[in-house]
Amino acid sequence: MENITNYQIVSVLLSGPYNKTFDYLVEKTKQAKVGQIVIVPFGKQELLGLIFERSKNKIKKEKLKKIKSIVNLPLISKPFLDFTEFFASWNCAYKGNVLKLMVSPFDKKSIQNLDYKNYKPIDEEKINIRGNFKKLNFYQKNASKEILNGFNKNSNCFLLDGVAGSGKTETYFEGVNHCLKNNKQVLILLPEIGLTSDWEERFKKTFGFKPLVWHSGITKSKKKKIWLSSLYNKKLVLVGARSALFLPFNNLGLIVVDEEHDLSFKQEEGIRYHARDMAIYLASKINIPIILSSATPSVETIFNVKLKKFSSLYLPSRATGSDLPEIQIIDMKENPTSSGNWLSDVMLKELLTRYKNNEQSLIFLNRRGYSPLTLCKNCGHRVQCNNCNSWLVEHKKEKIYLCHYCGYKKNVTGDCEGCNEAQLVSCGPGVEKIIEELSNHFPNAVIENFSSDTINKLDHFTESLKKIKSGKVDFIVGTQIIAKGYDIPNLNFVGIVDGDIGTYGGDLRSSEKCFQLLTQVSGRAGRHLKKKRGLVYLQTYNPESLVLKTIKEMNKDKFYEEELNFRKQASMPPFSRLISLIISSKYEKTLNEFSYNLFECAPKYKDVDILGPAPAPLNFVRGRYRNRFLVRSNKKIYLQNIVRDWISSIKLPRSIRLSIDVDPYNFM
Ligand code: ADP
Ligand code: ZN
Repeated sequence: MENITNYQIVSVLLSGPYNKTFDYLVEKTKQAKVGQIVIVPFGKQELLGLIFERSKNKIKKEKLKKIKSIVNLPLISKPFLDFTEFFASWNCAYKGNVLKLMVSPFDKKSIQNLDYKNYKPIDEEKINIRGNFKKLNFYQKNASKEILNGFNKNSNCFLLDGVAGSGKTETYFEGVNHCLKNNKQVLILLPEIGLTSDWEERFKKTFGFKPLVWHSGITKSKKKKIWLSSLYNKKLVLVGARSALFLPFNNLGLIVVDEEHDLSFKQEEGIRYHARDMAIYLASKINIPIILSSATPSVETIFNVKLKKFSSLYLPSRATGSDLPEIQIIDMKENPTSSGNWLSDVMLKELLTRYKNNEQSLIFLNRRGYSPLTLCKNCGHRVQCNNCNSWLVEHKKEKIYLCHYCGYKKNVTGDCEGCNEAQLVSCGPGVEKIIEELSNHFPNAVIENFSSDTINKLDHFTESLKKIKSGKVDFIVGTQIIAKGYDIPNLNFVGIVDGDIGTYGGDLRSSEKCFQLLTQVSGRAGRHLKKKRGLVYLQTYNPESLVLKTIKEMNKDKFYEEELNFRKQASMPPFSRLISLIISSKYEKTLNEFSYNLFECAPKYKDVDILGPAPAPLNFVRGRYRNRFLVRSNKKIYLQNIVRDWISSIKLPRSIRLSIDVDPYNFM
């Protein structure tokens, strides 16, 4: 029998759906430390785990199992352990699942087999700055001075707020530069993987070396290398999508969240979280500055500036010296189009002028495919999805009807399934329809469809962007992905087909989203014009709406002020906290019974409102019925704990799925 006094007890967090840590024995001679990755026996299996803390329990050592092995890696640093704890608590997730995200390129086998002795960290010589920086203008200099001061203060959160093209990137590059000179790591989060190639190129031009890139399109073996670099290398620059937040950086000096308002920072599947919000917490834990950059900041961020939690750095004008575009509202009530057409005469006239003049134009419509609804003139039948209660969107080029929620598709035959008559008509436009309309007017023009249907692969994306930038394209017809941060040199006119899109749904953020999107799209026009301004035409039926008026007047402050007033009156975020519960089942009856039971045991607190259960606006998706609850409280209450207690007080039937969405952005 071994002498039990030669062992110490450690608490291990297991990778997987576990919230508690488990105690294990480890030989004292092995000098186990908090932050070490270990392999432990658990039931009949072995699991990957992390020594999370020294054990506080007084269990008899004889009862405990022994750790199988300690993986020989540098320690995961304390701020990341705190981050795991916080992340799980805030997002109502299991701590062990957060650990799983943190070690995502590895499983227990590959991490044990890691040949760490032969692992060569990236050569830091390669990360030496050899580039030449742009001479900053007055505003950029002031902003970067503030950022550099931020390195000497305790946790500092900046909003870098400036119109598109004001030189925000060049400004935060100063912060990156500072970190590199001090041998620190930098993390830059971008919303869209399509943006990284453009960004990489710019970075390379400025700094003279390539950053590490992390997103879902990176191979596993590359991810492993990058993961190890974040743990071994003292100095590096990593640009990535939201999941880069979970890399175990050992020497992080700065986080940048570029386009901080972008909705793709919100993870909507699996563990739901907002990468920007989590990044702010992480930066505060490590005591490093974080820069949120945007031309159209989120209302939450503006509110935090007002509360003086964040400092705002403002860049008022375009860095290239060109003026912001002129915005003209086209009232569609006064400029009607003939049936089945969507471009007004004024719009077409301007497009023609630009076309003759060899200038590029962007026609923007945030709707993929040909038409969002097909119905039968004879019997009224609508082409619908089998798995969801949604209309199928016609995609004419591929000759299919496609569900944008579940991917279900069927062929276009031309005949109605209800009455077999060939009397189907398409209602409303998608980008393909606009392209059709354009080709009728400009039969010889080169038209590029820039939407996620055509460029779902990174290669297509890069290719398409190259083609556009080369000037070979006359008309770009695009959805919201074209609105994101691209610099298209010869683009001087933007036509917005439907300025009212998205404002009908009436969710909490519809005005905000519309304001951001239209401002971003408009910002693409005339970025490199000298002495002349770009031009934007905005077609609408509601020229008097707050969004359109403030965009036309370029009065951003007014928009935020009125929007904040509205939220305050309605007691909505950022003045309150929301949590959504989404409950789904294949069986409608089970779903409704369970929803009712859950309602019956809902907690009754002063200042906590529980709305629901109600069928979700999309109450049937991927073959499952869905109900929703919305829980609201003031911000002094830690609502997550209340919701957790509530959920754990009731047993979940097997056929029910329940997901908790903290600070929800999606209300469908
Ligand atoms: P933002 O990030 O605010 O959209 P960028 O940093 O992309 O703006 O800058 C827009 C354009 O202005 C880029 O082409 C960039 O190279 C250029 N630019 C930025 N700063 C300067 C400067 N100080 N002088 C000249 N050009 C600049
Ligand atoms: Zn569907």
